[in-house]
Amino acid sequence: MREKLYEGKAKIIYSTADPAIIVAHFKNDATAFNAQKKGTIAEKGVVNATISARLFALLEHTCIATHYIDQIAPNELRLRKLRMILLEVVVRNIVAGSLVKRTGLASGTLLDEPLIEFYYKDDSLGDPLLNDDHVLSVLKLVTAEQLAELRRLALQINQLLKDFYLRCGISLVDFKLEFGFDGADQIQLGDELSPDNCRLWNLEDGRILDKDRFRFDLGSVDAAYQEVLQRVESAT
Ligand code: UDP
Repeated sequence: MREKLYEGKAKIIYSTADPAIIVAHFKNDATAFNAQKKGTIAEKGVVNATISARLFALLEHTCIATHYIDQIAPNELRLRKLRMILLEVVVRNIVAGSLVKRTGLASGTLLDEPLIEFYYKDDSLGDPLLNDDHVLSVLKLVTAEQLAELRRLALQINQLLKDFYLRCGISLVDFKLEFGFDGADQIQLGDELSPDNCRLWNLEDGRILDKDRFRFDLGSVDAAYQEVLQRVESAT
């Protein structure tokens, strides 16, 4: 017996018999630019659930706490229910997307150190960029210790995913993470890890293999998602 708890742009969340566990059903629906652009990507639900499952398992293996339990269907994951922190944590290795607009640096510029940014998770405000004082003193989203922990986790996850994607012949340009608190108030990684929230460029020729193909109508969107899935599956 399961009940729909929430339907988002890319996932439906169901309850389970255990109140501490939820099921995430990954949809083929795709949105971009704060849902102004809408469409579907064939088999995206299966691709994103499977890539997320593989990457969460990889992180768990390296002692990073995530909400992942198991994959119960091609497009469904069982997850621990978290009290989500209203922050989008973006990690960047290479300049792209909004960082081009904010800094004027050329897309593709390699950053000397990974850059971490915090955005306020609020669609009605368009997920604005926050500085530490906004996070800590104004919005009080987390404590200073928790913010430091988020930075530490984000950098550790970046290193692991960057190395993993290199083995897949893919450059991890940037990605977005979301965290939450478990029943014991410990920070765990939540949400998903998929081509919907990562920029992935083919190492050999810079070919875009992520949601930017959908955002900017570059064509072969389904094929790019399948290519990432195949490479992730053969590397795990
Ligand atoms: N991202 C995301 N959800 C968002 C905003 C960004 O998953 O609401 C991801 C995006 O896919 C990219 C990274 O975070 O991998 C950095 O995105 P950016 O700030 O450049 O914004 P965008 O160009 O996507 O608007």
